[in-house]
Amino acid sequence: MPHQSTILIIGGGPVGLFLALRLAQSNISVTLLEAHSSIPADTKAMTHMPAVFPEFKKAGVYNDLEKAAKGLTNGKIWFRRGSDKSIIAAPPAVASTPGPMTVPQQRFCEILAKHLGRVPNAKVLMGHKAKNVNLEKDSERVQVTAETASGATVEFVASWVIGADGGKSITRRLAGIDMQGETLPRQLVSTDVRYPFESYGWTGGNFLADRENFGLIGPITENGLWRVSFGVPADYTNADIEKVLPRKFDAMFPGPRPLNYKVERCAPFGAHQLCAEKMRKGRVLLVGDAAHRKLNLFFQLC
Ligand SMILES: Cc1cc2nc3c(=O)[nH]c(=O)nc-3n(C[C@H](O)[C@H](O)[C@H](O)COP(=O)(O)OP(=O)(O)OC[C@H]3O[C@@H](n4cnc5c(N)ncnc54)[C@H](O)[C@@H]3O)c2cc1C
Repeated sequence: MPHQSTILIIGGGPVGLFLALRLAQSNISVTLLEAHSSIPADTKAMTHMPAVFPEFKKAGVYNDLEKAAKGLTNGKIWFRRGSDKSIIAAPPAVASTPGPMTVPQQRFCEILAKHLGRVPNAKVLMGHKAKNVNLEKDSERVQVTAETASGATVEFVASWVIGADGGKSITRRLAGIDMQGETLPRQLVSTDVRYPFESYGWTGGNFLADRENFGLIGPITENGLWRVSFGVPADYTNADIEKVLPRKFDAMFPGPRPLNYKVERCAPFGAHQLCAEKMRKGRVLLVGDAAHRKLNLFFQLC
């Protein structure tokens, strides 16, 4: 017999987990399917803007996030100015108050999953990849087929299905919903780097505002690992990125030259300004990156 719930969420990234938590806290039974067997480590999000803090408080996760961000927060906006392009901090009027909170995506998801584990109405199934979403017309229920990490097929039935399965959403594709908008002629390279930014007065999530060498720089651990993101043209290959990286870091990093750093992870991401033509088809809804992909904040900094 298929597993039943009022709401089935496909995708256990930050959006799916947060939504599942809020629904379960509202006494709505929710099942969440996540393709990965454990929360993945990646080079994606780390900065949370103050506008979302009230939502974190409503969900009861703010204190844990604040604790996780301790020592990582209080970033600044920096400019490269003058003929020598020195890196200088923005005056307080430009800097945002209160500042953004830095909690890397993996840690953020772990905290949400911990809270979700305490709510009775929520079931989180890791290692369950949704393969098919059956949107039968006029039906009061939606059927979803998932494949487990061991290759078994599992059937689910829910009154509503929510696609929180990211930019390449299978839910969106199976629902036949198109994305509208544009993909920018740039890509964002996100790296995890060991470098002593803190020795030069850098803490928290820092925006470097500069036409060419813009980026986001922030600590992701308390032992010297920093995430440094910057832009390159869309047609750059991995080999091109490897070649340009020292020049980028030379323009972006404070401190004496030659720079002494160690890159631990590096991944390029497309820069999109895309939105689903609709967020709902029958009993299937889209949220998060499945519904809108927008990574142009960095590109607006220049
Ligand atoms: C380099 C980079 C830096 C960023 N920095 C920031 C930042 O500092 N602050 C910020 O707010 N945002 C940032 N973002 C954007 C942010 O990462 C995304 O908006 C966010 O991850 C969207 O969350 P999501 O849950 O919608 O999707 P995702 O994070 O993509 O999660 C989707 C989940 O669905 C799962 N999934 C996919 N298909 C299936 C399937 N068929 N069945 C089951 N599960 C499935 C995936 O495994 C994944 O866990 C950044 C993005 C990038 C690329």
